[in-house]
Amino acid sequence: MTSQRSKEAHALARRIATPIKCRAPIDPTDPEVTPPPDAVPADRAELAHNNNDGGLPRFYLDTVVVCRDCGKEEIWPAERQKWWYEVAKGNINATAVRCRACRHKRKHSRPSECCLSHCFPARFSNCFAMRV
Ligand SMILES: [Zn+2]
Repeated sequence: MTSQRSKEAHALARRIATPIKCRAPIDPTDPEVTPPPDAVPADRAELAHNNNDGGLPRFYLDTVVVCRDCGKEEIWPAERQKWWYEVAKGNINATAVRCRACRHKRKHSRPSECCLSHCFPARFSNCFAMRV
């Protein structure tokens, strides 16, 4: 019996074992770049809410985030980036700045904030909580 949480923990452990920081920086907006095998393709139609002259990504890659609050390094998985930008309609220039634990702590330390803002940032663009 393997729970979903356990599967996610194993997937994360595999990703952490991969030396992401050792990779040369890859520009996912560059049309000349060949996406690495672990890239998650972007759906540009779902990114149309962004009015971005800098170009939209063609794919997402796992990214290391150093938490602004606790300093811990955490992977922002490519699949979660895709969800954030394409499903939740997050701004393409927004990136994760806190680890999951600190995001959770922060979110639940403000009882007056609407939880929907976390899931649907485009509808709650004035809400502070949506700025990842
Ligand atoms: Zn943190």
